[in-house]
Amino acid sequence: MKTSIFRIVPLPTKIAERARRVAAAGAPDHATVIADSPNAFPCRHCLRWAQPGERLILFPFAAIPPGRPYSESGPIFIHAQGCEPYAALRQYPADFRNGRVMRAYNSSFDMIDAQVVNGSEPEPIIEKLFQNPETAFVDARSVTRGCFTFRIQRA
Ligand SMILES: [Zn+2]
Repeated sequence: MKTSIFRIVPLPTKIAERARRVAAAGAPDHATVIADSPNAFPCRHCLRWAQPGERLILFPFAAIPPGRPYSESGPIFIHAQGCEPYAALRQYPADFRNGRVMRAYNSSFDMIDAQVVNGSEPEPIIEKLFQNPETAFVDARSVTRGCFTFRIQRA
């Protein structure tokens, strides 16, 4: 088996725990929602689809920090109950093999490339994006709604 050249970066546990605290305190920009369909509520911490009936927190996350041309903050879900962070860091998350776009950024957070993964294998697309020495990281996002799903770095 080929060693992967990339490493999956789920949402840091610290950020998930803070979002759960802020939601519990009743902040209006941290909503609690209940999943009502099996493939529509991706948890950015464990990198799995929430199952119908599971509670989630919906809150804004700045995947690309403020103060830059490509700065971007957008809505993400995490499980409302504590969940384990995604651990198979050398493996592409099985739940998100379809319906993602891979956006490549340089070290200044400028978007320099993007490719849709839909019905194709994500690994060769990620490897191709990292063949560009300018690529510092790749963000996987929803191809339909555009929401940040997870980050990918060089291994
Ligand atoms: Zn989760």
